[in-house]
Amino acid sequence: MEIIKKIKEDVRLISLEILKRGLVLGTMGNCSTRVSGHSMIAITPRSMDYNLLSDDDIVLVDYTGKVIEGGLEPSIELPMHLEIYRIRKDISAIIHTHSVFACAIAATGNRVPPVVDELMVYVGGEIELAEYAIPGTQQLAVNTVKALGEKNAVLLANHGMIGVGKDLKSALLSCEIVEKASMITVYASLFGKVNTVPSYALKVERKWFEKLKGG
Ligand SMILES: [Zn+2]
Repeated sequence: MEIIKKIKEDVRLISLEILKRGLVLGTMGNCSTRVSGHSMIAITPRSMDYNLLSDDDIVLVDYTGKVIEGGLEPSIELPMHLEIYRIRKDISAIIHTHSVFACAIAATGNRVPPVVDELMVYVGGEIELAEYAIPGTQQLAVNTVKALGEKNAVLLANHGMIGVGKDLKSALLSCEIVEKASMITVYASLFGKVNTVPSYALKVERKWFEKLKGG
């Protein structure tokens, strides 16, 4: 079907983007999107070099985790993707990266504070930290959803981050904004105290975020 072909291509192209933009190394990270009109998602396969992926390598999986189409195994983080889709009916795409500055903050047990306006506008504010669990486990899925809440991104302790959005481009933007805000936080902290966007502005921007989320 034409729509499925296009969605597989979109997932493959976005996985190349996260590699090109330095958000992951090698075969790490994963991307998925809902297949609209069908009760399934399209997700990157497990341990495949993004440069060698073909559209047909993208795996179609139903919401119970059963493979519908694809010769390869789905990403090891499938349980995390499914749990997010189950709870967050408002989003249609998920990208998981291991970007360096987000990982640096996640390794300290801290959150990413709202140091720039766009963190509030596009991601919903301070980025929470999901408690550590072994990659690929249901426990990691549960911890991730809990910390993600209604926002568009979350840090995973000693692991990486997740960005979500209404489509793959929005999910990629969430990942990039979190990485940029993490970088700013790390560099700014070299000077001492890090100031956040004032709370009166955050209140206004929160409304913008709600509006954007609604499409
Ligand atoms: Zn990972």
